[in-house]
Amino acid sequence: MSYCVHVLYDGYSKMENGKMRANCSCTLIKGPNNMIVDTMTAWDKEKLLSGLDSSGVSCDDIAYAVGTHGHSDHLGNLNLFTKAKHIVGFTVSYGDEFFIHPFETGEAFKIDDSLQVIPTPGHTSADVSVVVKTKDLGTVVVAGDLFEREEDIADPSLWKYIAGSEDPESQEKHRNEVLLLADYIIPGHGPMFKVTSLMKETALGSAACNDK
Ligand SMILES: [Zn+2]
Repeated sequence: MSYCVHVLYDGYSKMENGKMRANCSCTLIKGPNNMIVDTMTAWDKEKLLSGLDSSGVSCDDIAYAVGTHGHSDHLGNLNLFTKAKHIVGFTVSYGDEFFIHPFETGEAFKIDDSLQVIPTPGHTSADVSVVVKTKDLGTVVVAGDLFEREEDIADPSLWKYIAGSEDPESQEKHRNEVLLLADYIIPGHGPMFKVTSLMKETALGSAACNDK
């Protein structure tokens, strides 16, 4: 199965004249099961529609609409995707039908051999990330706010305090797991970045420390 990843919009977060301004990265995954991950704010409907249009995909072509966690800048346009199964945090639904999936025990929601949704709590208690195997980029993880942006690896205060973390210990554990499995990460509020071998070594070192 072959997938490709299109970041429709890079997320951002910044202080501007004493106000916090933020919007999420919005990602389209195209392949046997089309998926949209994080649908920006409720004010971004036209923006999202035009991004999809430029990628040659309509709302009805989307099989899975994912909100990585329950914050308003990630969930604003789920209602455009009424042909899709919705995965919001640990909740999976279609219309008024809810499907039980044990994310809380660490179990991945497998869509096919190349596409799955994994539990990565920490930023909130029910964050998920999407893991997709692609032809051109290897394994890409669309991580929501597990990572704020690439710079939060050198400066953990960005994800711990500025973005806010409900459970920093859990978030750190899942950040390390994702660094070890990903070739590229799409963070919640910044452009996609390549996971370097130094990032992997550091993650491996601190994962080993956590096991002791
Ligand atoms: Zn966010």
